[in-house]
Amino acid sequence: MELERHAYDVVVVGAGGAGLRAAIAAHEAGARTAVVCKSLLGKAHTVMAEGGIAAAMGNAWPEDGWRVHFRDTMRGGKMLNHWRMAQIHAQEAPDRVRELEDWGALFDRTPDGLISQRDFGGHRYARLAHVGDRTGLELIRTLQQRTVALGVDVFMECTVTRLLTDDEGVTGAFGYWRESGRFVAWEAPSVVLATGGIGKAYKVTSNSWEYTGDGHSLALQAGAGLVNMEFVQFHPTGMVWPPSVRGILVTESVRGDGGVLRNSAGNRFMFDYIPDYFRKETAETEDEADRWYDDKKNNRRPPELLPRDEVARAINSEVKAGRGSPHGGVFLDIATRRPAEYVRRRLPSMYHQFKELADVDITAEAMEVGPTCHYVMGGVEVDPDTAAASVPGLFAAGEVAGGMHGSNRLGGNSLSDLLVFGRRAGAAAAEHAAKRAGVVALAEEALADAARAALAPFEREGGENPYTVQLDLQQTMHDLVGIIRTAPEMEQALARIAALRERVAALSVEGHRQYNPGWHLALDLPHLLLVSECIARAALAREESRGGHTRDDFPATDPEWGRTNLVCTRTADGGVTVARQPLPQMPPELAEVFEEGT
Ligand code: FAD
Repeated sequence: MELERHAYDVVVVGAGGAGLRAAIAAHEAGARTAVVCKSLLGKAHTVMAEGGIAAAMGNAWPEDGWRVHFRDTMRGGKMLNHWRMAQIHAQEAPDRVRELEDWGALFDRTPDGLISQRDFGGHRYARLAHVGDRTGLELIRTLQQRTVALGVDVFMECTVTRLLTDDEGVTGAFGYWRESGRFVAWEAPSVVLATGGIGKAYKVTSNSWEYTGDGHSLALQAGAGLVNMEFVQFHPTGMVWPPSVRGILVTESVRGDGGVLRNSAGNRFMFDYIPDYFRKETAETEDEADRWYDDKKNNRRPPELLPRDEVARAINSEVKAGRGSPHGGVFLDIATRRPAEYVRRRLPSMYHQFKELADVDITAEAMEVGPTCHYVMGGVEVDPDTAAASVPGLFAAGEVAGGMHGSNRLGGNSLSDLLVFGRRAGAAAAEHAAKRAGVVALAEEALADAARAALAPFEREGGENPYTVQLDLQQTMHDLVGIIRTAPEMEQALARIAALRERVAALSVEGHRQYNPGWHLALDLPHLLLVSECIARAALAREESRGGHTRDDFPATDPEWGRTNLVCTRTADGGVTVARQPLPQMPPELAEVFEEGT
């Protein structure tokens, strides 16, 4: 078998914010480090991030601090977050933002010259450091330049299809060059997964083609657990029209900067959907909500800025009640609320996105928006301090890791998560590799097996086209494991997923190994199916509604479930099993934060 071979201390799979930050940390700790990514360097999902990075720097509000950020994050996640991750995240995010600035990132400024911070849903104070609505671009540009300048090796347009392990833990990874189809293997005692999310399991999503859950699936197959996979975030505002752009994100900054949601009767319906849990901190009248933009001390926040799960469910209900917009969404109006010049300056990407893709001038008319699958809170179960998974030598950071965001992520908390835990994962991976230097080796039989599995779709004839199977899976997840869930529908989804697995096992692809997208999708599909099964199984098991998981048949939030995590692991026959695990309890001095009313 023709195989390109490399040896490193640390291999990072994924070149988004988490992967690049991990690679920088591993390199700085003295590890020989490589980054592998499916697409071109710089094209990771992180580049699409618009609104900003949440960090309690206190630039807009001196009252802000890590304890308030910690509290907001836990409350936003409906207290199911791993408390230690939320604590580390809140404490370290400001340093990670300042460090980015030291490395050359240019953030928007306050009139005093400090890094400007903007409002976002669920954050008590304005705390998102931003660069217009193109924050992810600046973040990735900065990290990418540093990675390359440090001399980290980058394998781009290269997909990892398997993790390699022995009885002691990780030994490396196996993959293929997308352009030539040739195989490549990396021997390494430490692998950091930073592969992002699972959005392509759903029909309507803000995610790009890369988000096929590869890292989730690779970790599961290597023996790690996936925690709380039932929690999938549907962002309330994706584009709904024209069909070709359905799902593309409309940033929350539109609401942070004054935009409001209206139904077909022109009503600001979010006032009808304020849950008791957030009533104390949410404005009761339109007047109070509007005053908040200018006087945040003496007024409460508009209900449009409730956490995403609340807003997405409200939109879903309005549409179902027949009060939606012509194309099945609701209206997001900033045109009547802010001057055109303000909108163009604060939201340049949104202005162009609507102008070019939908022929809508958002300074003159309302946008049509609706929920879109955006983010997965569930992911690889990791140690909070080191990002280590249960398999020795395996680490996970960024969207692929679980625990940090509980049942619902607050906007802006992903970019900070990537930096905080990417750095920790890279450093811990380097430390682990130093202990295992010179003792790992790749087993020839495992390499041959990985190659055989990758080539199998070429060997079969008369099978289905991978695109048809992907569409059927996306429709299944959309219809049966979407925003509102019931047991019979999820049981139906699991039966369909089982049938889809058989279809995937019989897939065949045409042509040869040189740049063959059909073959690439055939190799991604088993990952997508495995994570979809985890989502459906965990969602069926959790008999309550919380954050990004709403059960029509169990509408209440149940305190007992609030102490319970669900962990998916692989069974010997290749299936998935879900087990309950007690939620780690926070120490009393942290629990006090919730009594302080900070
Ligand atoms: P990514 O940035 O997606 O990187 C994943 C990497 O893994 C890619 O390089 C990919 O090529 C690689 N990869 C995947 N599978 C493989 C494989 N098998 N082999 C090799 N490489 C692989 N969050 C915020 O905090 N603030 C925001 O304002 C914000 N705005 C957003 C706007 C949009 C439109 C979207 C979609 C998301 C937004 N988010 C935001 C969420 C945030 O951007 C993502 O959660 C975050 O960027 C994920 O980063 P990551 O490093 O985990 O993964």
